[in-house]
Amino acid sequence: MNENAADVIVVGAGNAAFSAAVSAREQGASVVVLERAPENEAGGNTRFTAGAMRFAYDGVEDLRRLMPDLTDDEIARTDFGTYTEDQFFDDMGRVTEFRTDPDLCELLVRRSRSTMHWMRDKGIRFVPIWGRQAFNVEGRFKFWGGLTVETWGGGPGLVDAWTAIAKRERIAVEYGARALALLADEAGVHGVRIKQEGRIRDLRTHAVVLAAGGFQANVEWRTRYLGPSWDLAKVRGTRFATGDGIRIALDVGAMPCGNWSGCHAVGWDRNAPEFGDLAVGDGFQKHSYPFSIMLNARGERFVDEGADFRNYTYAKYGRVILAQPGQFAWQVFDRKTLHLLRDEYRIKQVTRASANTLEELTRKLDDVDAQQALATIREFNAAVRDVPFNPNVKDGRCTNGLRIPKSNWATTIDEPPFEAYAVTCGITFTFGGVRIDTRGQVQDVDLAPIPGLYAAGEMVGGLFYNNYPGGTGLMAGSVFGRIAGSSAGLRARAG
Ligand SMILES: Cc1cc2nc3c(=O)[nH]c(=O)nc-3n(C[C@H](O)[C@H](O)[C@H](O)COP(=O)(O)OP(=O)(O)OC[C@H]3O[C@@H](n4cnc5c(N)ncnc54)[C@H](O)[C@@H]3O)c2cc1C
Repeated sequence: MNENAADVIVVGAGNAAFSAAVSAREQGASVVVLERAPENEAGGNTRFTAGAMRFAYDGVEDLRRLMPDLTDDEIARTDFGTYTEDQFFDDMGRVTEFRTDPDLCELLVRRSRSTMHWMRDKGIRFVPIWGRQAFNVEGRFKFWGGLTVETWGGGPGLVDAWTAIAKRERIAVEYGARALALLADEAGVHGVRIKQEGRIRDLRTHAVVLAAGGFQANVEWRTRYLGPSWDLAKVRGTRFATGDGIRIALDVGAMPCGNWSGCHAVGWDRNAPEFGDLAVGDGFQKHSYPFSIMLNARGERFVDEGADFRNYTYAKYGRVILAQPGQFAWQVFDRKTLHLLRDEYRIKQVTRASANTLEELTRKLDDVDAQQALATIREFNAAVRDVPFNPNVKDGRCTNGLRIPKSNWATTIDEPPFEAYAVTCGITFTFGGVRIDTRGQVQDVDLAPIPGLYAAGEMVGGLFYNNYPGGTGLMAGSVFGRIAGSSAGLRARAG
């Protein structure tokens, strides 16, 4: 690479970065992508995902346009329902407790459908998520959680597709190239200082798009901003998301924005490694807890496992698990719900106990007060209301009179075999970041746009607070990456 690297430099090589790079290229700009990771670990958190994407659609015809391979038979066997823009707005409002930035949320929701079609036109393929987002009841699948489509090949497939598209579009991707600082003066940002193969160099450009992820893999920042115990969480995804993009933007005067003490965190195998493992992907997660009861070290329940569909509680329950003594919990199931367990419960690297009696099971739950655990299960069983169980709707099968209720899908734990799975807190990504405007341009601390600087993806703050509707991270990366890339490309062409 020479000094004048390209019209636009994109920092990062995840979904947001590639969306920005391809969009800038559409404007006629030359583009180079800088990726800190070596090629075999590149792709950021994006590569760890299942590729699930939340977007607005009005019915099956909308889905058929996105996935023309859907057969009549598949459509006949599936209730895809709708996920209208209004539903998407409602979900974003409800789960963020109405703190989501209205302008950013508006863009996310209103551009979600057209951005999916843009991705498809570029060469990304989508398939319905029958396995994880729909239950088969009496021969018919029903999608229950507003999340219907994933990228073909999941996260690895998405990164591979973007990489192939970048190659086709003559976008250079530099691996092992870490952005250290932005080159900036009073007129704005003019380039990036990078370290690659041990050498530090300055690359000049007309516009920079930062898409370098959150700070979840930075244990010191996690403790500093999220608070005590967050140093003890496991990182679900890439070890390269240490907040570099946020830091170098703040260094040139960017305005911090959003929920800096908040993050997306889930129940994750108690013995998972410190960072994500690409061979396992998202398999350490244990997302079938709405059909379980969760017990902590004291042998007590501590949260309403069935408060809502999984997509609307999983991202905040990691924090609740982190707050338990020893930062762990056991999810307990009996025979009646074992067939509903997601594929991730059947991986080799799982922390499981199984037994044919409750006495034996509770004795096998490592680090748990067995006597209290048994008492809790019996108390729970006695409190379950006998209304029909249905995993596809909030069935109202709840408990009566417990201090911590279970609001839906409450089934007694009384038929062997019994199975239990140990989870701790796995952090996915942080919610705090930098402030952007509706063109994806980074704002400074006076709320003026920083010339030549754009941002997208997890490192942008303002969209998510407290919680998050499943499948929105990739969608936000695509929508705002596309916007930021287009703005950067236009600036480069003009300049
Ligand atoms: C296990 C798991 C499962 C998930 N499942 C889903 C899902 O199904 N659907 C969904 O919507 N979301 C999911 N998410 C969240 C989703 O991964 C993210 O929201 C999204 O991929 C973020 O994209 P991004 O481009 O902003 O960041 P990333 O994909 O993390 O990309 C950031 C990139 O920046 C690079 N980088 C960092 N610092 C530097 C530097 N200094 N210089 C150069 N490059 C740098 C990193 O190496 C990385 O390539 C999941 C996350 C995890 C961990």
